[in-house]
Amino acid sequence: MDNAEAGATLLAAEATRATAALPDIQYEHTPGVIDLTWGHPDPSSFAVGAVAEAATAVLAAYGWQALTYGAPCGAASTREAVAAHLTGTDAGVDAADVIITGGSSGGLDLLLTVLAVPGDVVLVEQPTYFLALRMFADHGLCVVGVRSDDIGPSVDGFASAAATARADGRTVFLYLVPTFANPTGRCLPLERQRQLLEVARSYGVHVIDDDVYRDTTESAPPSMWSVDRDTVLRLGSFSKSLSPGLRVGFLTARPELIERIGGCGLLDSGGGVNHFASMVVGELMRSGRFDEIASAGQQRYAQRRAALAAALDPALFEFVVPGGGYFLWLALPIGRSSRQVVAAAREHGVLVSDGRNFFVDEPERGAVRVSFSMLDASLLGEGAARLNRAVGSLVA
Ligand code: PMP
Repeated sequence: MDNAEAGATLLAAEATRATAALPDIQYEHTPGVIDLTWGHPDPSSFAVGAVAEAATAVLAAYGWQALTYGAPCGAASTREAVAAHLTGTDAGVDAADVIITGGSSGGLDLLLTVLAVPGDVVLVEQPTYFLALRMFADHGLCVVGVRSDDIGPSVDGFASAAATARADGRTVFLYLVPTFANPTGRCLPLERQRQLLEVARSYGVHVIDDDVYRDTTESAPPSMWSVDRDTVLRLGSFSKSLSPGLRVGFLTARPELIERIGGCGLLDSGGGVNHFASMVVGELMRSGRFDEIASAGQQRYAQRRAALAAALDPALFEFVVPGGGYFLWLALPIGRSSRQVVAAAREHGVLVSDGRNFFVDEPERGAVRVSFSMLDASLLGEGAARLNRAVGSLVA
C-alpha cells in the first residue's frame, strides 16, 4: 500500500466514525486537524499482502494445528523464531526464554496477574508510558514515581522508594522503557542500568523492561533484560514494526518464570495467546519478510523524525532527536504550562500530548509529546508550523 492509499485508509476511518455507532478501529480522525498524539504505526507500512501469504503458508504447513488451541507459552516454531530474531542484539536467546503474548500490553497484564496482588508497588521512572499507569491501576497496584535526572531514574531515589515498599512487605516492581522510550525517545545508558539493577537485586525488585520500540531502528542497543536475566522481565512486541492488529508480542524471562506464567488460568483455559496470528508472525520472520518490512519502517521513521525535528522552532522548544522510537519530547519555554500549550495548539489546528499525563507527580517543567510515526513528512511539517505559531503566540 502506498502513502496515497494510506491516506485513503485514514479517510475511511473518518467515514467509519461518521456513520457507525460502533467503530472498527481505535484511531479517530479529526477532520482539518493534524493529530500528533497517536503513537500508532504508519498505516502505509502494513504489509497486507505479506501477511496474507504467510497466513496461507501457515495453514498449508500446519493445517488444523494452526487453528486449534495453542501451547500455553506459544507454538514452539514461533518461540524459536522470536528467540532467533532477538539473538541479533541479545546474545544466546533460547525458545525456553520466550512466551508469546498479546503485544506488550498483554505481556504486562499476564506478568502482573501472576506476580502481583492488589496493594503491591510499582515504581516508575518519570516521565513514563502513561497507559502502563492505567494497567497498574487495573491490577490495584500502588504506583510511586521515581525522579529522573538527564540520564534516567535516580539510583538513590529508586533505592529509597524500594526500601520503603519492601519494608511494608510488598512485592515491588520497577517499570522502565529503557530503549527509545515513550515519551522521551531516549535510551538508558548501560552504566545507569547496572546501577539500578544492583539496587533491584539487593531489594528483590522485579524490573520490567518494556522494549516495544527495539525494531523501530536498525541500531538498537542490547536490551536491559540481557544485562540481568534473573532480575529483569522484558516485554516485546510486533505492534510497532509489523502491525498492532495482529496483537502479537512476547515476554522474555527465566525459563522457570516463563513456565509459571504459562501455567496461569488464562492460558490453561484459552491456550497460547493469539495462536494463529503468532504463527503468521513466526512465518514472516522465517521467510525474511519481517526483516524487509521492519527495515522499510526504520527508514521511513528516520526520515519522518528528521522532518519533524527540522520543522520545529529551536528557539521555542528544547529537545534531543532520538535514534529510534516514535516520539519527540519537547520541553517548553520556562513559565509556559503544557496545559496552555495543548489548548493553544488545538486552536491552531494541531493536537499534541500534554506532558503531565506521563507523570505521577507534578512535573518540574512543562513539556509536550509529539509523534512522528503516523503522518507523512509534509503533514508533520505543517503540524510543526502550527505548533510553532501556537507557542509563539503565547511567548509573544
Ligand atoms: N508499551 C509502550 C512503552 C508503548 O509505547 C506502547 C504503545 N503505545 C505499548 C506498550 C503497547 O504495545 P502493544 O501494542 O505491544 O501492546
